[in-house]
Amino acid sequence: MARTGDAHYRRLRARVLAGDDLVCAWCNLPIDKRFKAPHPMSPSADHIIPIAAGGHNHGALQPMHLGCNKSAGAKGFRRAGVKRKHAREW
Ligand SMILES: [Zn+2]
Repeated sequence: MARTGDAHYRRLRARVLAGDDLVCAWCNLPIDKRFKAPHPMSPSADHIIPIAAGGHNHGALQPMHLGCNKSAGAKGFRRAGVKRKHAREW
C-alpha cells in the first residue's frame, strides 16, 4: 500500500484541496482544479514538513501544483532558484 493511501490522509488531502482559491505553496500561482493528474498544473497536497525530513504522513498539508510538488520533493523549499516557468496569463 502506498504510504499516502490511507483514509486519514485522503481526508486531510480533500480538506486542503476543498477551497476555491487554491494557491500553490511553491510558485504562488493559482491552482486550477480543472486540471487532472498527471497534468503538472493539477492540484496536489504537499506535506509542509517533508516525510523525508521527519514529517508525519498525517501532518499538515498545503496545496501545490503536482509539477511543483515533484520539483520540491524531499529537497525542501528553496524558493530563490525557482524559475517561474509556469507563469502566464490565464
Ligand atoms: Zn506551483
